[in-house]
Amino acid sequence: MANGATEPEFDVVIVGSGVAGALVAHRMAEARLRVTILEAGGVAPDSLGRSAMVNSYATSPSKATDSPFCGEDILAPQPAPVNPTNYYDYDNNYKKDQFKSFYQRLIGGSTWHWQGLWVRMLPNDFRMKSEYGAGVDWPLTYHELEPWYAQAEYEMGVAGDDDEVAEYLEPRFGAYRSRPYPMPGLAPSFLDSHVASAVDGRSLSGIPLRVTSVAHAVNSRPFDGRPAAMGTVRACHSVQLRPGTKPWSMSKKRWRLALSCGARLSSRA
Ligand SMILES: Cc1cc2nc3c(=O)[nH]c(=O)nc-3n(C[C@H](O)[C@H](O)[C@H](O)COP(=O)(O)OP(=O)(O)OC[C@H]3O[C@@H](n4cnc5c(N)ncnc54)[C@H](O)[C@@H]3O)c2cc1C
Repeated sequence: MANGATEPEFDVVIVGSGVAGALVAHRMAEARLRVTILEAGGVAPDSLGRSAMVNSYATSPSKATDSPFCGEDILAPQPAPVNPTNYYDYDNNYKKDQFKSFYQRLIGGSTWHWQGLWVRMLPNDFRMKSEYGAGVDWPLTYHELEPWYAQAEYEMGVAGDDDEVAEYLEPRFGAYRSRPYPMPGLAPSFLDSHVASAVDGRSLSGIPLRVTSVAHAVNSRPFDGRPAAMGTVRACHSVQLRPGTKPWSMSKKRWRLALSCGARLSSRA
């Protein structure tokens, strides 16, 4: 370069700062690789405190998924929650590849928003073509992926019911687990218990019915330096705004660790 100045050099460029980018950046920066992360979106008003986001959501007429993060400098163009099929309308080349869902384009990606449901795929989900004649089979099996599922559960902090797995999911679906959940399952809500008492023991077309819980990436007890979640964690799409809930905080922790190991992060890139 002119004047002897040098361009920064990197071993790895990560595009996107969601949970996948956060975990990869941390591991690579820890291994002393020079990492830079390019993120299309901006920085959510976390520095103002979560109350700013709660307020933004509470005062939004739409109460849409992006309501907590409103602000011109925060969100990169993204699918509109009210009409996700128009995401690529600004570029005719992409019209044929409509993205019929929505996600968050800001630092942290969709961890800001996900509900914390933690559902592993079942072994047959990897064999959709050979088992059911639909789609294509995955190039890997449940058993090959299982150790990584377990590792991710300890990274995220997942609360789930091991007894249910042993009594039901493993014998019925072969959903083997190499490690127990990091935390016991969340307590069922009043509604959960009520529905279970009405449904359990019945059958539909000869298939016995049983209400089971869903594992959540939400603390059921203090874990990884974070408190147990407060109050209900079910069926609310702004799970990140409540203390003790996990995914964005986990992602943020990974970012901080990655940056402390020397990784660089550029927003609005
Ligand atoms: C409302 C909602 C609820 C959800 N609930 C659940 C749930 O309960 N359980 C569950 O398992 N999953 C859930 N999900 C899905 C889950 O959040 C995502 O699968 C996960 O967060 C994806 O992580 P990621 O790192 O792969 O990608 P993302 O989090 O999508 O991150 C991608 C990042 O890349 C950036 N980016 C994209 N293109 C570019 C570019 N060209 N240049 C630079 N940056 C770019 C984006 O801005 C974004 O920050 C939910 C998602 C939403 C939106």
